[in-house]
Amino acid sequence: MEARVVAVLAVVALAVVTFMALREWQGRVRLERAAGATSGNDAEAAVVALRERAVTAELETALIRNDQSDFVRALELGVMIVDEDLRIVGANPAAHTLLGVAPGSLPGRTLIGAFITVHAESLARTALAVGSATEEILVAGVDGPRLVLRARRVPSGGLWLVVEDVSELRRLQQIRAEFIDNLSHELRTPLTTVSLLAETLTREADAAGDAIPPRMRDRIDKIEVETGHLVQMVTELLDLSRIESGATLGVVDLIDIGRVATDSTERLRLFAERQGIVLHVEVDQGLPRVRGDEDRLGPVIVNLLHNAVKFSADGGEVVVAAQATDSDVIVSVADHGAGIPRAAQARIFERFYKVDRARFRGGTGGTGLGLAISRHIVEQHGGRIWVESTEGVGSTFSFSLPIAPPPP
Ligand code: ADP
Repeated sequence: MEARVVAVLAVVALAVVTFMALREWQGRVRLERAAGATSGNDAEAAVVALRERAVTAELETALIRNDQSDFVRALELGVMIVDEDLRIVGANPAAHTLLGVAPGSLPGRTLIGAFITVHAESLARTALAVGSATEEILVAGVDGPRLVLRARRVPSGGLWLVVEDVSELRRLQQIRAEFIDNLSHELRTPLTTVSLLAETLTREADAAGDAIPPRMRDRIDKIEVETGHLVQMVTELLDLSRIESGATLGVVDLIDIGRVATDSTERLRLFAERQGIVLHVEVDQGLPRVRGDEDRLGPVIVNLLHNAVKFSADGGEVVVAAQATDSDVIVSVADHGAGIPRAAQARIFERFYKVDRARFRGGTGGTGLGLAISRHIVEQHGGRIWVESTEGVGSTFSFSLPIAPPPP
């Protein structure tokens, strides 16, 4: 019989024996207590009661520990306990399966020995230093499984390491990205032609003056506007799939993101004024530089501003601000517009997600892709993007970028 099964049976037998002994002992203690009470020996009875509680608590803890180890053994996620010297102390069966090693062979190995890559060890060192760390690694070359490792420091000194196989998930994500990419490429050429034809038609209708009935002119205008949206959607889809498929950033330079924010605001000032919205810039002077691709970060700010204007009421104002913390520069765009319901706030950075398709200015709208693209770009720069919003009061979208380290 397998050693693990024997061990489990031994633990269960021990628990049963301990439990029965405790029951018998509890009975004896009760009798003793009764005797003690009648003889008036209160102090002795109190000590006995205390001891009884201590033994019960110990037994309960042992049973809970048993339940927990059964649970960890049954998990499909790999779970390992690693000591401070980065040596594996314990591992459940799933951890052995995920790493393709014989059952029971992980305890005693080092992390490098188990994962055959230095990434697991450097992740563990980071977690020991800062509390927790997560990384995706490829085991045994490009054809090996893709594992996500989550390490968390435990108070006793070592680490818990949770291992998850995401190979299938990543394969499906790649198929989806390729599908969207191919479809967008196929759609782009005919759509661009239709859009140009619609533009020409609109110009010709304008030139024809009263010869074109107003209803027909109205329809031609609508065709032009909707075709423009389709072209924008296809362009954004292509952008998104390019970014998602791991396209690297263009020219990465030391940039003054405050200046990029100011320039982007100026680009949108006329558009905002036409909608009756005033733009304000509150950028701190002398901001530290960040490392980034200005051609990617500029459009992020333009997109946030565009949304802020789109979802503001006439006469509203939008404030673009940039300031530094100890580690980051934070750019924010605040409006006093429609706001976003709490439940939707976690979802608006997903592709195609729109809060309420009827809320757009003029009844026409965007693609629901802008924030998904913005999130990817910010994360590519090692930053983070988030929103704070109250429905009916307004929204503030912010993103942070790490301050570039000083040159050596
Ligand atoms: P798009 O604006 O093209 O629809 P986005 O990805 O930029 O796509 O935005 C997704 C959704 O998030 C929008 O459709 C809207 O519902 C919501 N949203 C974004 N910005 C704001 C804002 N400033 N105020 C209110 N809602 C917003």
